[in-house]
Amino acid sequence: MTIGCPECGALQDIPPLTSRMLARCRVCHYPLERRSGRSLDAALACSLATFALLFPTNLAPLMTVHMLGAERSSVLSSGIVAMWREGWIILALLLGTFGIVLPLVRFAMLSLVLGAIRMGWRFKGIGALFRWTLWLDIWAMPDVYLVGCFVGYARVTQDLTGSIGPGGYCFIAAALLSMLTRASLDRRTVWRAIEPERTLSTGAPTLSCTVCDLVEPVCRDGQPCPRCGLKLRTRRPDSAVRAAALSLAALVLTLPANFYPMTISTELGHDVPQRIVDGVYQLFHAGLWPLGILIIGTSVVIPVGKIAGMAWFIASVRRRSRRHLRIKAHLYRWIDELGRWSNVDVFTIAAFVPLIRFDGVASARPAIGATAFALVVFLTMAASRAFDPRTMWDVHIRKRQ
Ligand SMILES: [Zn+2]
Ligand SMILES: [Zn+2]
Repeated sequence: MTIGCPECGALQDIPPLTSRMLARCRVCHYPLERRSGRSLDAALACSLATFALLFPTNLAPLMTVHMLGAERSSVLSSGIVAMWREGWIILALLLGTFGIVLPLVRFAMLSLVLGAIRMGWRFKGIGALFRWTLWLDIWAMPDVYLVGCFVGYARVTQDLTGSIGPGGYCFIAAALLSMLTRASLDRRTVWRAIEPERTLSTGAPTLSCTVCDLVEPVCRDGQPCPRCGLKLRTRRPDSAVRAAALSLAALVLTLPANFYPMTISTELGHDVPQRIVDGVYQLFHAGLWPLGILIIGTSVVIPVGKIAGMAWFIASVRRRSRRHLRIKAHLYRWIDELGRWSNVDVFTIAAFVPLIRFDGVASARPAIGATAFALVVFLTMAASRAFDPRTMWDVHIRKRQ
């Protein structure tokens, strides 16, 4: 069965694998297919369970805090609704989409696709539907939201007593199951179940689909892929230019994101602005240094590393560099995977803002830095998605032929 490697574009023949086997690309070492720990049935079960748990997660009380006899509890969407009401429309839209809407959509669609394959039912458009679930994989972030809630809860309970509600426990289970779904799903198996790959006669020029890696004759360029329905292209169009524009926009927004406050808290009539560094300092000061390190990693190291990495990839595509190709491919994969975790700090705000509403004594509200930071994360993620890693390898492949 021939496929085009999604990392470097080289044509690869994968022999039928038995369990515990892993097929790597011979050019770039990308793991093309992994059998160990992967199972369609397990992925289906985890996906269905995640989808079912998302309902109590969204409806039941998440956390409760007490202060001077008063009590405030929140559901998952409380912080996002509060942001919307206070006029932080962009922030509320981004967080509501990533944290609430897309997880529901993704797990509904994934359960449908995997269930249909399990029952041997191939409906029209199943390939396109699976393509959408893969696309949503990085944008649906219940796991990131959970870590954000955890940091928010740890921050709030420094000064106040709090408890986790039934919605919170459902959320923990749903986020863990969503990670298990990602871990147990082998997309190659699903693609093959939707439509098997063929062994192509050698010699004819070919291209491979940028989503499902199906190999097709080059004369089909511009037509829809017979498996996933996306328009067939040799490479993602204008990948370097688009990635450069998005990364540049992210770089510009990095300044307000770091120098303006993420939140403003009011304590006994005094406004206390809090930037990212202040939040980190507070966590260290309270002895929560593992969380402080986590926030430094997700809010500073990952965004800066992503922009620097993308600059390196784009420069090497333009200079047609053949150096360090495997390192760059590895780094690209990490950047694409880890980027979503930068949202932890923004979700933290959504978690603790609705809990600190004690009029005249203590309150907290989001500030302009939060919107800037959420946009930085969004733009860097969009940049790594727009970039086609195969363009880095084109010089290499051409050299080999
Ligand atoms: Zn490869
Ligand atoms: Zn395709």
